[in-house]
Amino acid sequence: MSGGERKRNKIGFARRIHASRTIGLILAGIAFIPAFYELQQPLWVWLAFGGYFLVWPHLAYLWSSIYNDSLRMGQNHLLIDAFCCGIGVAAMKFHLVPSAILMTMVALNNISSGGLPLFSRGLIMQVLGIFAGTWVFGWHPQWQNSVAVTIACLPMLAIYPLAIGLYSYRFATRIHEQKLQLRKLSRTDGLTGLYNRTYWQLRAVEEFERCERNRKHAVLIMLDIDHFKNINDTYGHDVGDDVIRRVSEVLNRQLRNIDIIGRFGGEEFCIVLPDITVNDSKKIAERLRILIASESIGQGNINVQCTVSLGIAEFTQHLQGVDEWIKAADTALYEAKNNGRNCYCIAPATKGLHLIGERSGEAAAQRKNLSIE
Ligand code: GH3
Ligand code: MG
Ligand code: MG
Repeated sequence: MSGGERKRNKIGFARRIHASRTIGLILAGIAFIPAFYELQQPLWVWLAFGGYFLVWPHLAYLWSSIYNDSLRMGQNHLLIDAFCCGIGVAAMKFHLVPSAILMTMVALNNISSGGLPLFSRGLIMQVLGIFAGTWVFGWHPQWQNSVAVTIACLPMLAIYPLAIGLYSYRFATRIHEQKLQLRKLSRTDGLTGLYNRTYWQLRAVEEFERCERNRKHAVLIMLDIDHFKNINDTYGHDVGDDVIRRVSEVLNRQLRNIDIIGRFGGEEFCIVLPDITVNDSKKIAERLRILIASESIGQGNINVQCTVSLGIAEFTQHLQGVDEWIKAADTALYEAKNNGRNCYCIAPATKGLHLIGERSGEAAAQRKNLSIE
């Protein structure tokens, strides 16, 4: 994680709390106005609470964003809120409706921000705040409040839980999106966007079992770029990466959605073609071979062409598992390399060894023309 991301994550909590605190304190301020007016609180009380409602949210945010551990700092600020709420309850002489609403909203904020631990600590701070407020304002409870005070509490009662619900929903949605992104990242290869080896193998096992169960056809192809080391050595690693990407694009473009395409490692790709017979797979392999050979890759003066060799292994019921299936395709690939590259071979275990490119004479001709420039 970069420094910027870490900082963003840390101030994320402070930002979330800042928004809900600003809204919450404005709504609480509305509830306090008629109560303080009726109780004829002195000017210093109006100024102290006015400052707290209007200035404190922004001060707390500023404080959290420059402090290293924003999560802990943010939670400490919530405890300050809980303490001030207790003082406020004492300042409005324990009017039952606003006091109960205020205490509940602060507790709601704490439990949604820090679970039961923050809720419990907040409760203690609320009680301590009541003691401190009673010490300052005295113990003169007036449980009953006027209709005006009750009406002034309504915006808080109606809006604040909605705001908390909305933040929680957005938070849950973001977590869900991040989970999906993480799952995608853990499955795909960074350079090509194809499945990585681990995930491809999982999918190959699934397909293997499906074929075993339902007696279906499937073919596994291993594909390897020929003389790739020469491309790297001649044009550099970046161009080598471009070649790998371009080959993967051809595979993505040419194959079906249900085909399972992965980067097996380096410049080697592996493909499972479900519901395909070995005869059909020959046509597919030949098409891929020709298309890749005809691609021209590079920028400016650089113009690279590459060829690939392919090993084909058909699924058969006597295969012991995916590893054996992969091994069969790999053996066929090895044969294709030995037979001069830019061609495909079919695993001997299934249909005997054929070198179709050589048989048609096409591959040999292309090999001469498509040598690396
Ligand atoms: P062959 O025709 O027998 O397959 O020969 P080759 O040169 O293609 O195969 P070799 O195994 O000798 O070389 C593969 C090279 O691929 C070696 C390695 O440095 C390079 N390579 C592996 N991964 C990457 C990558 O992600 N990007 C680049 N540019 N090169 C890579
Ligand atoms: Mg190679
Ligand atoms: Mg290789």
